Amino acid sequence: MHQIHNFINGEFLPPKSDQYLDNVNPSTGIVHGQIPDSSYEDVQEAVTAAEASFKQWKLSSIEERATYLHAIAQGIKSKFDDFALAESQDQGKPLWLAKKMDIDRSIANFEFYASAINHYENNASSHKPGVLNYSSRRPLGIAGLITPWNLPLYLLTWKIAPALAMGNTVICKPSEVTPLTAYMLAKVIAEVGLPPGVCNFVFGSGEKVGQAIVEHPKVPLISFTGSTASGRSIAEHAAPHFKKLSLELGGKNPSLIFASADLDKVIPETIRSSFLNQGEICLCTSRIFVEKSLYDKFVEGFCEKVKEIKTGNPLDETNFLGAIASEEHLNKIEHYVKIAQDEGGNILVGGHRSTQSAPWAKGYFFEPTVITGLDASSRVMQDEIFGPVVTISSFESEHEACQLANSVPYGLAATIWTSQLEQAHRVSEAMESGLVWVNTWLNRDLKTPFGGSKQSGIGREGGRYSLEFYSEAKNTCIKF
Ligand code: NAD
Repeated sequence: MHQIHNFINGEFLPPKSDQYLDNVNPSTGIVHGQIPDSSYEDVQEAVTAAEASFKQWKLSSIEERATYLHAIAQGIKSKFDDFALAESQDQGKPLWLAKKMDIDRSIANFEFYASAINHYENNASSHKPGVLNYSSRRPLGIAGLITPWNLPLYLLTWKIAPALAMGNTVICKPSEVTPLTAYMLAKVIAEVGLPPGVCNFVFGSGEKVGQAIVEHPKVPLISFTGSTASGRSIAEHAAPHFKKLSLELGGKNPSLIFASADLDKVIPETIRSSFLNQGEICLCTSRIFVEKSLYDKFVEGFCEKVKEIKTGNPLDETNFLGAIASEEHLNKIEHYVKIAQDEGGNILVGGHRSTQSAPWAKGYFFEPTVITGLDASSRVMQDEIFGPVVTISSFESEHEACQLANSVPYGLAATIWTSQLEQAHRVSEAMESGLVWVNTWLNRDLKTPFGGSKQSGIGREGGRYSLEFYSEAKNTCIKF
């Protein structure tokens, strides 16, 4: 059993309330730790610390900040296996995936921004002789960073690194479902000697801690990744303060498979895009649309492969799926499968909790599930389920494919499978989403803009987009 503490002003502190929340290991269903049930008072203490440390941190050199970011990356690297095991136990994901994706990428996030900050240039321009304009970028102050449970360390570090790089101080609010690796990161930050108050962690619920950060008048910037419902509430509460906001929200991502696609490549990649991390990645495919002439062949080949997927013990490298992150989320997934059945959908594969033997018998496992026969207006095809559940439908024309893909309130990521170059460009152009992948999926270049359209979010993260979000431009005009 672990007991997590807040990390404020360089010190590990119990919550002022002395109340704790249970932290459950989803693959066993057993409470494996306790986290602070923090409240406004803890957030206020973090704000006081972050405000005081901002005075010095904003004056630090880029070299100094980059050196700290490299040191944090090194600190995670030196405890790589411990971080990966903790992420797997806390989130439910397979250990191999925690290593290959989460921890690797968390290290890369710090290294990427340590380098990016050294390569970021400001602009100067002269619109007439004797006049020079130059723009510089200033940190805003305290950044409130609020993150979800699906990629706990990966998404938190994706915010911390650019926020610190640009000279802000931060208050992190990791998901109460998966706090463990954030706590370990706080320990690394303490070890590398980052000045006290520059990076603070307050653990607890969204209702108390998240909301207190969002409403605090001394936190001018909020970067949030999570559900569209929480994003809406955050936007409402932040608006009266005119806060700078980045919202990375939910998705209902389509995969469009055209007749010219090579099924030998499409099927394994669509298995990955549908079920990696138990389907709990905001970029996962949840609606597959296949051109009619290829439909039967795709459904047969895809289902055959889905039936071979192994689910269970996250420590067993042969399992592709681990546990669903929480019991509440498992119930939600089950609820949507029930809706699919009630609406006459055909459950071709899965559709049930996956039964396991001890010590995993009480874990939250769900079989990878494939559903056909639903109307595009079904809630199963409109709402974000965020689990190992995909629907397959057919289309007759490119126009219909695009209409179906865009027929949801979300617009995060779309995947297109075609060997026709012009079609790839045309369909990409038609997608109402922030990201489009053609003949690939989750192929990430950290320099590129990342974010959603419609109800999938506001703003872009990545490369200079993050550096600019975590800073404000100031123009100086000189006549000489
Ligand atoms: P969530 O919205 O329930 O919680 C996310 C975080 O916000 C948690 O730390 C939570 O405590 C906090 N929170 C909740 N309500 C809040 C409020 N009113 N004010 C302030 N903070 C609040 O999301 P979740 O269930 O943890 O994560 C799953 C969701 O995240 C899915 O919708 C998924 O698509 C989305 N997501 C999006 C991206 C992206 O890049 N677009 C990436 C990963 C996950």
